Amino acid sequence: MTENQSHLFYQSRQPRPFLDRGEGIYLYDESGKRYIDGSSGAMVSNIGHSNPTVLAKMKAQMDRATFGYRLHFRTRPSEDLAARLAARMPAGLDRIFFVSGGSEAVETAEKLARQYAVTQGQHSRWKVISRSPAYHGGTLGALALTGGKLFAGPFAPMFREMPHVKAPQTYLDLDNLTEEARGIRYAEMLRERIEAEGPETVLAFIMEPVGGASTGALVAPDSYYTRIREICDEYGVILIYDEVMTGAGRTGTFLACEHWGITPDIVAMSKGLGAGYAPLGAVAARADMVEALLDAGGFLHGFTYAGNPLACAAGLAVLDEMEEHGIIEHGAQMGEVLKARLEALMERYPFIGHVRGKGLLLAFEMVSDRATMAPLPKEWNAYSELVELAYDRGLIIYSRRTRGGVEGDHFLVCPPLIITEAQIDELMAILIDALDAFAAAHDLPVQA
Ligand code: PMP
Repeated sequence: MTENQSHLFYQSRQPRPFLDRGEGIYLYDESGKRYIDGSSGAMVSNIGHSNPTVLAKMKAQMDRATFGYRLHFRTRPSEDLAARLAARMPAGLDRIFFVSGGSEAVETAEKLARQYAVTQGQHSRWKVISRSPAYHGGTLGALALTGGKLFAGPFAPMFREMPHVKAPQTYLDLDNLTEEARGIRYAEMLRERIEAEGPETVLAFIMEPVGGASTGALVAPDSYYTRIREICDEYGVILIYDEVMTGAGRTGTFLACEHWGITPDIVAMSKGLGAGYAPLGAVAARADMVEALLDAGGFLHGFTYAGNPLACAAGLAVLDEMEEHGIIEHGAQMGEVLKARLEALMERYPFIGHVRGKGLLLAFEMVSDRATMAPLPKEWNAYSELVELAYDRGLIIYSRRTRGGVEGDHFLVCPPLIITEAQIDELMAILIDALDAFAAAHDLPVQA
């Protein structure tokens, strides 16, 4: 077998070099070439690569036990991590269920909501409304929430489609409303959807507080968050925040919901929790919901690797690092610096139409016309071309062509939260070089 004929397969044929090692914000391939991990993998490696303290703590756990099945033993790492997470959750969300990834976290949140409703005698409530575009995971249950035909694709007949509402992409709205009013308008679409579906059938609403792969760091107007909470309360609809990408400090606070002082009923987390050191996810829920389930005989759900001591020891060590070194606060500051640098790119490149995000969950979107926000020609495949130009130059960024009705090439620039200002300079120099090459290839103007 040659390097390009592997037994291993993923989404597509995309031969990449072999990874050799990581160090802080950098990754090195086997030829010795260095890359800035400008997307923290898939917004995962929040505290950077190969942190020696985390590795030492994982090794210490490995030397004791790497697995103990939860029906046979409680483990210190899982109990301790649950307690530490509960302390960081909004008040009342102090029950934690562990999983191994984001899709598992989302499905756990859905099943918990449903089983809780059943314990309350609300058997008719089963619909989980989500936004379009959205990304909530690749398993069949999570796919039903992931708005957009492209993700669902050939699998659409295999699951029951759930209702959607439009994601608040207000930067594309050409009306004269204030952001505040737009936020309310989008939130009211949830009320309309609930009414249209029949409130007695609606179980929950799930949203990414800051969009990730779906909408590229989309932040809604403040009014959106508060109105959504009010509407859910009014109709007895469970509010699930999918903080798989935003959680563990990515947006400048431990959870993104803290920016708006919102307390969801259930929070799903993953990515930054294990931060690339172990597959780990968690669901936090209201104590009364969990007690109701336990009183009714227990939660009908579970995964073999859930709460395994090695993954939880990694999660604890990551949390220790974040707290001891003020990594979330540092990431918030670096987010301001990087966002200003990305905004400055709009002067140089008229084809950058929008810069958005919070903390170090940042993105820019390319357009052919800023006045109308019309996208670049689809056949350019800008989203993949710029990523390759950057990759060749030693910078990894993450991109998507937004799906779900709105087209547009957006690029997530989300380095580890430990990045320094000097490293931001380094990242920007490579990004500018890649953007210049992109502009030259398409005859796009660049303002010197
Ligand atoms: N929810 C969100 C918001 C995500 O960003 C992702 C992953 N991109 C998932 C769920 C699914 O997580 P995983 O790929 O770990 O299953």
